[in-house]
Amino acid sequence: MGLNALEIFKLLPKTNCKKCGFPTCLAFAMQLAMGKVSLDKCPDVSEESRAKLQESSAPPIKTVTIGKGESELKLGGEIVLFRHEKTFYSPTGIGTTISEDMSEEEIEERINRLKTLEYERVGLSLKADLVAVEDRGKGKFLELAQKALSTKKAVILASKSPANLEKVLKELSDFCPLVYAATEENFASMAKLAKEFRVPLAVKAEGIEKLIPLIEKIKQMGVENLVLDTGANDIKTLFRDMVSLRRASILKKFRTLGYPTISFTGRLTDDYLKEALYASILIAKYSSAVVMNHIAGETLFPLLIERLNIFTDPQRPMATPEGIYEIGKPDENSPVIVTVNFALSYFIVSGEVENSRTPAWLLVQDSEGLSVLTAWAADKFNAETIAALVKKTKIEEKIKHRKLIIPGYVAQIVGELEEELPGWEILLGPREASYIPAFLKSSWKAA
Ligand code: SF4
Repeated sequence: MGLNALEIFKLLPKTNCKKCGFPTCLAFAMQLAMGKVSLDKCPDVSEESRAKLQESSAPPIKTVTIGKGESELKLGGEIVLFRHEKTFYSPTGIGTTISEDMSEEEIEERINRLKTLEYERVGLSLKADLVAVEDRGKGKFLELAQKALSTKKAVILASKSPANLEKVLKELSDFCPLVYAATEENFASMAKLAKEFRVPLAVKAEGIEKLIPLIEKIKQMGVENLVLDTGANDIKTLFRDMVSLRRASILKKFRTLGYPTISFTGRLTDDYLKEALYASILIAKYSSAVVMNHIAGETLFPLLIERLNIFTDPQRPMATPEGIYEIGKPDENSPVIVTVNFALSYFIVSGEVENSRTPAWLLVQDSEGLSVLTAWAADKFNAETIAALVKKTKIEEKIKHRKLIIPGYVAQIVGELEEELPGWEILLGPREASYIPAFLKSSWKAA
């Protein structure tokens, strides 16, 4: 259990020196108890107290890392029950399985899908992150694990045989795979492997009540990087388990259950659309990783978008990087259009320019993720900032003309912008992006 504010206060130096940025040690203790500040802010806390406090200030759900380098995936680390309370930190890992039961063709197809199903949105690359390799005792476990690694996803090694797992770990433990899974029957061997090879370990039991003593036994063996599986075979039980685990760790600060979770939706149904539906429920509440039997573009894409929506910070608008974006193949006579870096503005404007079939240069200005009008009202999108962007991007080196199209909503800055950019003609574009194709067709002429 975490410490409360008074218990934390007793461990602080009590000098009220204010070095932490708070007027008193008690005020700091209250913030620490709520998980709103880091213990590092107090430079004078003793080593002994630090050790005790670190446990209290650690996130109620441990962060567990699977994979390494390009494939690294962080699970857990959440501190709130609902996104609007602060934010969620570790997007649900989404993946699929390859198994020794599958034919060579099926495995190749699955690997190929994992490698190619990738989508660009808001300047981000959205893709699956996990591949679980299932050992069925047919002697191909290592070969399959190597194929799984070729996808550059985090790998889960799923086997009931500690001996088979050991063979693979001897070759591949550097890639930090998740060993799946320690059960009541094999936990001693599995925990020994996880400790020896320094890899995370999944713990599986039939229900939360059976999971608790198993976790405690494994922790006593010195294995701390755990991922929990309640073994539920129907969505109702699994959903209830996920919510109960999250509530126990966040609200009750019950450290034994303070670990990320994993769900296998293939256990719940054979229907791939239902499986995607169940995965969407588990992404929302509260599985840290979801492994599906089937993976296809039409199911993966909406799940990735759902995940993106849930795991973006509600206090920070989604934004696109500032810079020049080429729409089509623009040349020296193509129009130059300015917009802000609010992700929605960028996508709507770039989409409409694309629809117009007029290749164009799109200048995106960093407005801290605010839309055109909001950014203008906040003085983050004005004649000065636009002129600075034009100069910074050196767009004039790419074009012969000197014409700049700005959003119709900021008509009032035309004169000022002409002063900031001598020699440029400022054209007022439409207010609504949907009129951009008509505007370009009727009004654009380079010369
Ligand atoms: S820096 Fe430490 S000792 Fe100083 S007021 Fe903050 S908590 Fe107290």
